[in-house]
Amino acid sequence: MDKEQYLGVSVSPYTYDEIIDDVKVRIAEGLQSTVIAVNPEKVITAGRDPLVKELINESTYQIPDGIGMIIASKLKKGDIRERVTGVDMMGRLLEFAAQEGHGVFFYGAKEEVVRTAKEKLEAKIPNLHVAGYESGYVQDQEALVQKINESKAALLFVALGSPRQELWIRENMPKLPHVKVFQGVGGSFDVYSGKVKRAPAFYRKFGLEWLYRLMKEPKRIKRQMALPKFLLKILVNK
Ligand code: UDP
Repeated sequence: MDKEQYLGVSVSPYTYDEIIDDVKVRIAEGLQSTVIAVNPEKVITAGRDPLVKELINESTYQIPDGIGMIIASKLKKGDIRERVTGVDMMGRLLEFAAQEGHGVFFYGAKEEVVRTAKEKLEAKIPNLHVAGYESGYVQDQEALVQKINESKAALLFVALGSPRQELWIRENMPKLPHVKVFQGVGGSFDVYSGKVKRAPAFYRKFGLEWLYRLMKEPKRIKRQMALPKFLLKILVNK
């Protein structure tokens, strides 16, 4: 399936299942893959920062994370019909890893957060093997790369915020030959550790997570202004 273009940014029109199937094939072929979440805020940032655009476009899968991407696809008569969120994609990849017997590694967030996320996920997903983890505030990068290699993890989740995590992945991919899937997961460890609550099911079902977050954290309005700005640009560029 061809990727769709939104203001020069590529987005994959794949569902969770399609990505997992494709990842499986790529792992069998020994290929490394990267997953990046795309939302209106990132597309707007990419418009003024060529590096961000490059980091997104060179990824293997650009998942449509956010209702804004679905509306944009409808406006452009594209094929993206459902959201593929970063946090749920991570969950699906973890289940896949557990089923296939692949080890996973978590890098990022505060020590307690990443440790709690590991413990809770191992309790929740049968056969999940978290081969190692490291907080996002570790200094010795060489030791970190060695630790990941020694863990023999095949999937690596990096939570340093954007675009730092994507830059880290690009820089370190060649040094981590055993890792076949890299995903930048932003605040997902905070969610899986229970530190940050996801929006209740009602808001998720109707694509209103932005409203829930706005009510909890009104200062997000600045970030969220990217959504109307993005849709307006899509309309003008149609
Ligand atoms: N973080 C980190 N090291 C840093 C800065 C941030 O590990 O030097 C972590 C932070 O603890 C949090 C995550 O990166 O868990 C960033 O989450 P945020 O929600 O800001 O990411 P976004 O998806 O919004 O980019």
